[in-house]
Parts: sequence; structure tokens; C-alpha cells
Amino acid sequence: MSETQRPDVIVVGGGIGGLSAALALTRKGLTVRLLERAKEFGEVGAGLQIAPNCTRMLADYGLLDEAKTLGVLPQAMVMKDATDGSELTRLDLVDLERTYGFPYMVIHRSDLHGIFLRACQRAGVELLTDQQCVGYENTPTGASATFADGHVEEAEVVIAADGMHSVARGLLVDDQPVNSSYVAYRGAVTIDKVMENQVSTTDVVVYIGPGCHFVQYPLRGGEMFNQVAVFQSPKALAGQDDWGTPDELDKAFEGMCEPIQLGLPLMWRDRWWRMFDRNPILNWVTGKIALLGDAAHPPLQYMAQGAIMAIEDGWVLAEHVGAQQAQRTADGGTGVDWDSALAAYNAVRPEHCRRVLSTGRVWGELWHVDGVKREQRNIILRGRDTYDYTFTDWIYGPTALTPEQEAPLYPIIPLDSVKLPEGAEV
Ligand SMILES: Cc1cc2nc3c(=O)[nH]c(=O)nc-3n(C[C@H](O)[C@H](O)[C@H](O)COP(=O)(O)OP(=O)(O)OC[C@H]3O[C@@H](n4cnc5c(N)ncnc54)[C@H](O)[C@@H]3O)c2cc1C
Repeated sequence: MSETQRPDVIVVGGGIGGLSAALALTRKGLTVRLLERAKEFGEVGAGLQIAPNCTRMLADYGLLDEAKTLGVLPQAMVMKDATDGSELTRLDLVDLERTYGFPYMVIHRSDLHGIFLRACQRAGVELLTDQQCVGYENTPTGASATFADGHVEEAEVVIAADGMHSVARGLLVDDQPVNSSYVAYRGAVTIDKVMENQVSTTDVVVYIGPGCHFVQYPLRGGEMFNQVAVFQSPKALAGQDDWGTPDELDKAFEGMCEPIQLGLPLMWRDRWWRMFDRNPILNWVTGKIALLGDAAHPPLQYMAQGAIMAIEDGWVLAEHVGAQQAQRTADGGTGVDWDSALAAYNAVRPEHCRRVLSTGRVWGELWHVDGVKREQRNIILRGRDTYDYTFTDWIYGPTALTPEQEAPLYPIIPLDSVKLPEGAEV
């Protein structure tokens, strides 16, 4: 057992999910100790897109202005066909902000992580590094986490924000990450490196193509430019271990439009990210141990909602903690009814994240189709009204506390129902 005083809450994992949850719970007057396995806090990677459902929470935390100074507010999200570069559809992000009340932003992931880290430091979260959690257990007075050095931390509640390979997840389900056979390359460079490359410095541009896609957007107040190249690995499909290598990167984008060819040489080639998710699970709580972030719902990235869902988890949990504190106070008591707070969290978050994960898989498949299906998809996307938000309301709207069955539904158009024009060549 730790020598120091027992905190109200232990958070395991100091990624964006763990830090934001620690901040949210500290704001409710709880003492929080966060333990991270790495020797230092930090994030690997480049850009993150954060939509109004996340910037709404940053505003609530008083962090939106700082995020705005570090990020970029793009004017539009433009989807193009990767083969010929033609525009398929767009979201007007200025109008989107008017619609949802909060902006769509792109930000370097280490900047967002740093914003939460500094906010946790200011709020008095106890932050410990070099702490590898190896086990979780419910106890008569709460829950505990055991660390590789043998010491045990106990609190009223333990939040496991320990990512895709969460140790705590094993208490709830015996599952494995699902291999999508897709791999992501990233590359963030100074803006001068791309000025001659036909790039937009104001928009998020997503080129979607057969078995691949390519994303571009500015970062850090426009000083940097971020690119993500994602493709299906033939070696992964063939069951080879050594998959997603740089030779596959170049081959995957052969024949794609010129802006992609100009962007490819700028990708980092010494590191790549194989894309796994997990099947959704609808129970994240066992006793006083709760999963949060990628530990509960690691997604494929097509909805750009992974970090956002993690941030929402902490915000929603803290809202329910606040409601339980208010109830206790009204009843003349103190503290938190954790069973009720965790049950309320578990009643609303898993179903929403299930929907995001499942939609993400379908959305990704739609990006990557070829042949007739590509033509059918393009007809649907080109026919979309730019100002129709029926398919984003359930994600971007203020729905975080709303049970999913009451949230507005998005329309799904089956590709097979789309008739190609007579004589269309595919
Ligand atoms: C290519 C790509 C693009 C993406 N784009 C977006 C986007 O645009 N928008 C978006 O919202 N999301 C995006 N995501 C998803 C997003 O990055 C993740 O969903 C998010 O970072 C998850 O945060 P987390 O804190 O839950 O988990 P993690 O970031 O994995 O953090 C887990 C932390 O726990 C620590 N840890 C792990 N095990 C232990 C242990 N046993 N003991 C102690 N500590 C431990 C780890 O070191 C780590 O610090 C993208 C992902 C990828 C791969």
C-alpha cells in the first residue's frame, strides 16, 4: 500500500483520456492520483481533429482559448476522390460552429496532451510516472491497482485509462484487438515544405480511394502541415508478420492524384501505426473499477472521435459524480454514491461509443471501395446538401448525457440503391 494518504480516485494511464478524466474529477472536489507507466508524460504522433462535441468540453474546462492559440480552426472539411482529385462533398466548418456553438479544430496531439497535463498540475492532481500497473482488484472499501514494483494503490474508485492493451479490460471481457489490415503513416512538417504542393492551408482535406486514403491539414497556427496516409497492406492480408512497410506505402498510392504524389515523400518512414480496434463492449464497470478511453473503446480512426470519446468519458463521469454529490448533500450527507455514479456512466457511454465504433468501421469501408461501388458512393456524396447536419447531430450535438436511443439518428443510404447513369464507365 502507498505510504501517502489514500486519494478519492486512482487513474491509471496518463494519455489524453486519463489526464482529462483526472482533471474533470478534481474539479468536483475529489483528490486524484494518476499513475503513468512511461518515464515521462507525452504523446507520440502528430495531428488530431477535435469536433464541437469536444471543444464544448474544453470550453467548460476553461481550456478552449489555450487550445485555439495552439491549434487551427479550419474553414472546411473537404472530401475528394483520391483517384482523380475531384471534390465529393464538404462541411463548412464556419457554419458548423454556428450550428453547434463550438468550433471544429485541428491541434497537435502533444499540444492537447500538454494542455491537459498543465491543467491537472494547476488543479492539484498528483501525477506519478514510471508506474506500470499489473493488476486491478475490488476491495471492501473501494478498489486497488497493483504496480510492477509490488506496491498497491487503493482508492474509492479506480479508473483504468490504460489504452488499447488495457490490463483492466480483462476483468470485463476476454477479447483481443481486431486487425483491420490497414496501416497509417504520419508526417508533420513546417509549412514551407508544402507551399508548392497544391495544398490547402485553410481546410482539412481527405482524399478517399480504393484501399487507401490521404489526409492533410495545417497545424500549430498554420506553421506546420500534417499529413496522414492510410492503406490496406497486402502483406497483412496474406498473413505475413512484417506488414505495413514503406515499400507497401508507395505501392498503395500508385496512380492516385498529383497532390498525394507530392505529399508522399514527406511522410515519416521510420515509424508506422498498424490499425486495430476492438469489438464494442456494453459494460465498462466492475465494482469500483471503470474503463475509460481506448481501454473501453479503441476505434478505427475514420470518425476522428477516439480522443474525443476519451475526453467525453471523463466529462460525463464527472457530471454524474456531481449529480450524486448534490443528491448526498440534499439528503444531509457528504461524499459520492459511487455505485450510482458509475451506473449512470455505464448507462450512457458504452452505447454511444458502440455506435461510433460500428459507424467508423462502415464509414471506413465506404471510403475504400472501388469499381461500381466507388461510383455509387461518389453519387451519394456529391448529392449531399453541404448544410445538412442530420448525420453529425448525434455526435457533434450536446448529446453526451443523452441515452443513445433518444439521440437523433443518421441516415444510411445503401450503395446498391444508387443507379449509375446510363453508359457510365467504371
Ligand atoms: C492515425 C490515428 C489518427 C487518429 N486521429 C484522431 C482524431 O483525429 N481525433 C480523435 O479524437 N482521435 C484520433 N485518434 C484516436 C486517439 O489517438 C486515441 O483514441 C486516444 O489517444 C486514446 O487516448 P487514451 O488516453 O484513452 O489512450 P492512450 O493514448 O493509449 O493512453 C494510455 C496511457 O496509458 C498508459 N498505460 C498503458 N498501460 C499502462 C499500464 N499498465 N500502467 C500504467 N500506464 C499504462 C500509456 O503509456 C498511455 O500513456 C487517432 C488515432 C490514430 C492511430
